[in-house]
Amino acid sequence: MKRILFFLLCAAAVACQSGYKPEGTLEGKHVLYVYGGWDGHDPGPCHEFLLPWLESQGATVTSSEDLDVYTDAELMADVDLIIQAWTMGRITPAQERGLLNAVKSGTPIAGWHGGIGDSFRNNTEFQFMVGGQWVAHPGGVIDYDVNITDHKDPVTKGLKDFHMVSEQYYMHVDPNVKVLATTTFNGDHASWIDGHVMPVVWKTQYGEGRVFYSSLCHVVSDFEVPEAFEIMKRGILWAAGE
Ligand SMILES: [Zn+2]
Repeated sequence: MKRILFFLLCAAAVACQSGYKPEGTLEGKHVLYVYGGWDGHDPGPCHEFLLPWLESQGATVTSSEDLDVYTDAELMADVDLIIQAWTMGRITPAQERGLLNAVKSGTPIAGWHGGIGDSFRNNTEFQFMVGGQWVAHPGGVIDYDVNITDHKDPVTKGLKDFHMVSEQYYMHVDPNVKVLATTTFNGDHASWIDGHVMPVVWKTQYGEGRVFYSSLCHVVSDFEVPEAFEIMKRGILWAAGE
């Protein structure tokens, strides 16, 4: 609890510093939070960490550790925002259909790192929806910088460039996404990508549904970087907006 309070205070400090006032709200919204998959990405602890913030924003949260929730048509019709944190694993055709149809017809989805950026490696239509797919993190957990490239967008407005000690995601990215922040690779771990600029945070759309993605936060403690948590919160609020 103390740890969560510390995170929230840090994040509040960043938000104040940037003069940012959140534009969206989760008041009265029904959020479906689906989590599981590879345990190395802390799906449980991340859920425990984000849930109090979601509820503090007025959301009613349905949490599920079973992808079958996507086949519950009645529930899916009532959901205002989907948050998924599910690395790798497999999704059945019926589960994928339930999810993709919901987003296509207007239910937004938000996620980070492998939670939607590396979910179901066999499912290209899911990757088409996300707007990118993880392919490598050269060197594993390393030092790298994140550069804010869009200073006008509400998700990144007022934020300064920042540093991470985490996995620097190398992704295959859909050119149709709106990039808000990037990172530049050096050649330390893969000489041929030296100097290449890679999207880190983006917005996109799949059918009628908004999609928000951040490649940050390999483990729950990465949310201690105030900018990383702030970007995720703002991205969730943007996705849930009108
Ligand atoms: Zn990771």
